Amino acid sequence: RSGEASSGCGAQLIYRHPDDQFTPDPQKKTLVILGTGWGSVSLLKKLDTANYNVVVISPRNYFLFTPLLPSCTTGNIEHRSIMEPVRQILRHKRAAVKFYEAEATKIDYERKVIKISDNSDIKGTINETEVPYDFLVVGVGAENATFGIPGVREHSCFLKEIKDAQAIRTKIMDCVETAAFKDQDSAEIDRLLHMVVVGGGPTGVEFAGELRDFFDEDIKKLIPEISPRFKVTLIEALPTVLPMFSKQLIDYTESTFKEEHIEIKTKTMVKKVTDKTVEAQVTNPDGSKSTLTIPYGLLVWATGNALRPLIKDLMSQIPAQKDSRRGLAVNEYLVVQGARDIWAVGDCAVAGYAPTAQVAAQEGNFLARLFNNMAKTEELESRVAELSSNLNLKPGNVAEITAEIETLEKQLRRIKDVKPFNYSHQGSLAYIGSEKAVADIAWLNGNVASGGKLTYLFWRSAYLSMCFSTRNRVLVALDWIKAKLYGRDVSR
Ligand code: NAD
Repeated sequence: RSGEASSGCGAQLIYRHPDDQFTPDPQKKTLVILGTGWGSVSLLKKLDTANYNVVVISPRNYFLFTPLLPSCTTGNIEHRSIMEPVRQILRHKRAAVKFYEAEATKIDYERKVIKISDNSDIKGTINETEVPYDFLVVGVGAENATFGIPGVREHSCFLKEIKDAQAIRTKIMDCVETAAFKDQDSAEIDRLLHMVVVGGGPTGVEFAGELRDFFDEDIKKLIPEISPRFKVTLIEALPTVLPMFSKQLIDYTESTFKEEHIEIKTKTMVKKVTDKTVEAQVTNPDGSKSTLTIPYGLLVWATGNALRPLIKDLMSQIPAQKDSRRGLAVNEYLVVQGARDIWAVGDCAVAGYAPTAQVAAQEGNFLARLFNNMAKTEELESRVAELSSNLNLKPGNVAEITAEIETLEKQLRRIKDVKPFNYSHQGSLAYIGSEKAVADIAWLNGNVASGGKLTYLFWRSAYLSMCFSTRNRVLVALDWIKAKLYGRDVSR
């Protein structure tokens, strides 16, 4: 099904079977989608790719099921189980889609082109080029917020990408094995086995829970002599952890953490990080401030999102974006305000909702409907125009043609009536360790709050059903069984 031929300019081209070949159709608009996260992949899943020349650009050639990323840090789930190759996703689309594994380095809004750069280790002859677009969907997500706090980038681990989870997994075992080293200094053992998590949002809480499970279920059995000295501390600047959950569930999480010996330090803001210590400012009950120095072996930084440079640069090109601080301000149709032909989804967009996977997925679905509708509208309008011009040419068929025009116009009115994007919150879920989870589920017009072991079963089944593919689902379920039967793999 494939062969090679020489193009006029001397370069070798691979000629695939016509069904597999992406050939831009000059009749169609080019729709470029940046990113392969929740927003972009949800859009791709539902988009009828036959209507556009679709080009996907992302430095990551896979979709990552981020809700289970904390479980990868301890080996409860293997990372490949929650990755789905983009090319596998695109293979099932009605019309071929072009994918470039590359980093978009600049969106040139005036010229309607995107500068892209090859991010792989192996460099070809061309490492940078431009991709033109008619329509652009920006779904590049966000980067880790550090608030410019000194030492964070150099000394802490983040928890956003697969490589972060792998780095944490390696570092945990590095700390453990070094602590178990012959004649190790006692204070050094305590430092190495002190795991500090900064940020009491769902990422920090879930990671702290997973970490405690790992020690209680596996390290305790394998290296019992060091396990009593293992300690997890969660630092949060606000007065509580999980501020997006109801008060009842916050209290439940805090009491569960107490039982699990995870220390929560609220009203504590980290101000500086060194290679071995965290320096924080504590607000005492009387309102006074004091400084705390905490030695650590592993530091995980989970303080939320910050803008990517690509987004900052695009915002600087659009005057209407100058007052937006947290990302690209979009209207109710997810169109980037003040820009033409650019839409934004997910964590890089500010649509008035929290930056969650659930919001991004619904935004992606909405845009797929919008783009499918736009194409259908164009098709129907050109058919109406064609029929209208026939009216004068074929007088015998006037009644028939008029009836068809009316039907088409009715369809057009229905299609054009696209309701604005409206987020429907299904609820929030978080794992808190010891096979317990908390859930705030939207129910009728209110919320149902639940926490405990049954909620954990719900958490598991909900995440399993949300996995991208059956393959992912099977792999995740097998990983859970494997970890239960044989323990987590502690090799690094
Ligand atoms: P977050 O923004 O929810 O929480 C970060 C926390 O870090 C904040 O509470 C903040 O007060 C604290 N913080 C910031 N700077 C600090 C400092 N210097 N010292 C101490 N504390 C500091 O971040 P997240 O948990 O990464 O979540 C990001 C987004 O993704 C959120 O919208 C969240 O709801 C969503 N998310 C949801 C789930 C889930 O529902 N299970 C899981 C992961 C992420």
